[in-house]
Amino acid sequence: MNNTSIFSKIIKENDLSKIIYKDKYVTSFHDIKQIAPIHILIVSNKLIKSINEINKSNKYILGHMIYVATILAKQFKIDKSGYRLIINCNKDGGQEIFHLHLHLLGGKKLGKMLS
Ligand code: AMP
Repeated sequence: MNNTSIFSKIIKENDLSKIIYKDKYVTSFHDIKQIAPIHILIVSNKLIKSINEINKSNKYILGHMIYVATILAKQFKIDKSGYRLIINCNKDGGQEIFHLHLHLLGGKKLGKMLS
């Protein structure tokens, strides 16, 4: 695995027509393959390859990613109807892009994943 990702490229390009939200720690944009009417990715600006790379010094990014998701849920008016936040990890978790990101999904009733 190398030290860059497609998400690093998007963050670096800083194309404001794509970017929904950006701050010092995260960048957000729409998922290219929308599986719900609202499907936004909240991506760490720094390359952290998976949630397994979270440690004592970078753990604060996770809280910030969730905080930003709540802001975007309000902005996209899915806070009242509800939404789901997902982080996939490695093969069994279905992770495709090895750059830490949180999926914000909503805008329809999502199927149950746990029962
Ligand atoms: P994950 O399976 O959690 O690693 O999710 C990776 C997500 O990135 C998938 O939902 C892809 O559809 C999405 N994706 C891949 N390439 C791009 C891209 N260039 N722009 C936006 N989303 C992308």
